[in-house]
Amino acid sequence: MKNIVLFGPPGAGKGTQATLLKEKYSLIHISTGDVFRYNIKNETELGLLAKKYMDEGDLVPDEVTINMLKAEVNKNAGANGFIFDGFPRTESQAIALDAFLEEKGEKINGMVALEVSEDLLVARLLERGKTSGRTDDTDESKIRNRFNEYNTKTAVLKDYYQAQGNYYGADGVGSIEDITNRLADVFDKL
Ligand code: ADP
Repeated sequence: MKNIVLFGPPGAGKGTQATLLKEKYSLIHISTGDVFRYNIKNETELGLLAKKYMDEGDLVPDEVTINMLKAEVNKNAGANGFIFDGFPRTESQAIALDAFLEEKGEKINGMVALEVSEDLLVARLLERGKTSGRTDDTDESKIRNRFNEYNTKTAVLKDYYQAQGNYYGADGVGSIEDITNRLADVFDKL
C-alpha cells in the first residue's frame, strides 16, 4: 500500500491536487473536511457536532475526528492505499494514525507538504469563498483563526514526520499542472 499524508495550510490546494493524484495512483482520497461537510449537509449527529467548530474555524475535537477517520479507512478494505487530506491536524491525530495503521501491518509512506505563504493563502481563500458556498471562507477573521489553529496545532507535524525521515516539501505556487507534477515526483519515490 501507498499511504500518503497530503499536508499544507488552509487553501494550499490539497483537495485539488488529491483529486488529480488519486486517479494517477489509484488511491482512495479521504478529506476530513469533505466528510464533515457531507455530514453537516445531511444533518447527521456528527455533522451537528462538527458544525459549531468548523463555522468558527476551530478544529473539531480529536476523538471525534479520529473515530471518523478510522471508519472511513475501514470502509475501504482492499484499497491500494490512501491520500489523507486534512488529517492528521494535531500530534495526537498523527500518533493515533500511526497506531491504527500499524495494527493493520501498514504505515505512512510519507508526508508530502504543499508550501505556500500565508498572505497568498488568505487571498485565495477569500476568492474561493465567493463561489464555494463555504461559510468558513467568507470571513477574514475566521480565516485568520484557521491559520492560528494551523500554526499552533498543525504545523508541528512537520517535525513529527521529519523525525521519522518521512517529510517531503513541494512548492505549492504555480499552475495546477506544474504542482501536480512536482507532487508526482515525490509520490513516485514513496
Ligand atoms: P481547509 O484546508 O481549507 O482549512 P478543510 O476542508 O480541510 O479546509 O477543513 C475545514 C474545517 O474542517 C477545519 O477548519 C476544521 O474545523 C475541520 N477539520 C477538518 N479536518 C480536521 C481534523 N483533522 N481535525 C480537526 N478538525 C478538522
